[in-house]
Parts: sequence; C-alpha cells; structure tokens
Amino acid sequence: MRPGGLCRIHHAASLASAASIALPCFPPTTFPPPAFRCFRPGTPRAGGGSMDSTTMSPPGVAVRDPKSLVEKKTAIRCAGCSKLQVIADFDGTLTRYWIDGRRGQTSHGLLQQGNAEYDARRQALYEYYHPLEISPTIPIEEKTKLMEEWWEKTHGLLIEGGVTYDAIKKSVSEATIAFRDGVVELFEFLEELDVPVLVFSAGLADIIEEVFRQKLHRSFKNVKVVSNRMVFDEKGCLVAFKGKTIHVLNKNEHALDMAAPIHDKFGYPNGYNPDSVLMKQRTNVLLLGDHVGDLGMSDGLSYENRIAVGFLNNNTEMSFKSYLDAFDVVYLNDASMRGVVELVSQLCAENQ
Ligand SMILES: [Mg+2]
Repeated sequence: MRPGGLCRIHHAASLASAASIALPCFPPTTFPPPAFRCFRPGTPRAGGGSMDSTTMSPPGVAVRDPKSLVEKKTAIRCAGCSKLQVIADFDGTLTRYWIDGRRGQTSHGLLQQGNAEYDARRQALYEYYHPLEISPTIPIEEKTKLMEEWWEKTHGLLIEGGVTYDAIKKSVSEATIAFRDGVVELFEFLEELDVPVLVFSAGLADIIEEVFRQKLHRSFKNVKVVSNRMVFDEKGCLVAFKGKTIHVLNKNEHALDMAAPIHDKFGYPNGYNPDSVLMKQRTNVLLLGDHVGDLGMSDGLSYENRIAVGFLNNNTEMSFKSYLDAFDVVYLNDASMRGVVELVSQLCAENQ
C-alpha cells in the first residue's frame, strides 16, 4: 500500500494467467535453491497452492522449515480455534497483484478525487517519496518521519481538494482491484468457526470496506478493518481523518486499539476497543502479508505460536531468499488463497 500512487503498469497477459498456476517466472534450474526445493506430493487443487498436511507443497509454494511448521500447526490445532486469530494485510495480500495483465490498484491508489490538479499533486508526492521508502540507505527513524510526512500530506490533499463518499464508491467501481480466489472461502470458513480476522492496512479503511461491498457484496461479522479512517460531514464530504496516521512503517502500533467494525464508519474512539481485549487473548496467530515488513503487524501481541504466510508477487528471483527467511510459508507469483484455506482447515481440524 502506498498513498497516491496511481500507477497502472501494463504487463504481459501471460503472467496474469500464470498467476493461477503459480509457475516460476525464471528458469526453474535456478529456482528454488536446492535446500528449499518444493515437494510434489500430489495433484494440487484447482487454483494451485494447496499444501500437503505434513510436508509441502505443490509448485509455487515454499516452506522455510517443514519440521517447525508441523510443530506450529500441531500446537495451534491442539489449542483450538478459540485461541486463533488471523491478521492480514490488504493490498497485494487479500487482493491480486495482477489483474488481466495489469497491475492491480491499491486502496490508496485507486482513489480519484474528481479533481485533476489534486490527483496530480498526490501522484507527485508518490514520485518523490516512494524512492525514499525503498531506499536501503535511509535510517529507519528518518524513513519513518518521511513516511509520516508523505501520508499526512496525502491526507491533507484529499481534504483540501475535496473527496466525497460518492467519489469513493465511483472510484472503487472503476478500479482495477480484485480479491484473490479463495478469499471468500477463507473468510466464510473462519466466520463459521468464530475466528476473528484483522485486516490491517496503511491504506484507507473506508475504501477497503467499499471494496468489500462492491466486490464481495457482503460483509463478514468476524472481519475488522484497521486502517486510516475518514470522517465525512452531513453532505458526505471528507473533513478529517480519525486518530493517528497509520503508514507503512507503523502498522504495528495501532492495530488492536483502532479496530472497528467493518460497517461502522466511525468505530470506537481511538485508544479503546473492547475487541482488542478479546484479540489479545487469542495467542495463536496466522499472519498473511506480501511484504517482509508485514511481519510487524503482530508486534503488539504476546503470541505463543505464529505461522507467517507471505505472498511474493513479483521480483521473485531477487526477493525469494529474504521472503523465505522471514515467512514460514511463501506463495509465489500472485498465487490464490486456496492453500491458506487448506492450511486453516488443518489448523482448525478436530481430533487429529
Ligand atoms: Mg500489501
């Protein structure tokens, strides 16, 4: 998630089609490294990415330490679903990275203010700050301040240039954004078991919720969005943002205290949320992210067991090792969510 970035990168249609079958996009002789070579225990389910219950895994899935993963799965299963929670990033994790050969948009990037000058000014901020964000030479403290600047300037432009809730609905309806296959199945399964899902994003909560409404046509009582939340006046015009800004480098600080129901625009006052107490009692975590930094989403929790699943959507060859160092399971090339559905079904299985 980055604010302002309105990029629409065109990409070969062949890669989009490759997403569902998760083929490596570089010579297989160089990937994965021998120590991480994937097993092929059986025929994966349609959509790719399903996992065997003991080892792993079909093409496009890698596991850092199969023995450790089995131990974590066993511990979580034995503790029961009442101890489990899911923390998920939104952009590029619940949503697809490629859509019909085009780069999918983010919850920030899809927003068109209906004011070309302000759309351009937000894009200019993206072009200035994004290189700073990814710079390996800027110390984290300095970078955190820069990210705060970027997010706050962007939010200021959204207020100054005018945004209405109707503009949000229109932007979502015209956006290139879609959930991964299997996301609905995952949420339904977790809802049935009363396992909470915290969707944690440095994007915009109101837009994420609108994406849920327009793309899924439903809500889930167990899913809560923690993100930057807008305040609208009686005419539906944006007038403020609630609370502290959540940006890409502080997603860990406000997760539980800012949680609010998915269809409650105004949520709870900052700093208090009865749900946070219940969430903190769930000490087993399934974390879903598409950046190594997403691991920080669980930093506010004293968890006993955490299984971290990473979606490595692009730049696979360069980033594979760092992802496998960081995540327990890595799905490659914009995979579907069906492997996670199968993982959750194993975590929540009884009497195994
Ligand atoms: Mg993301």
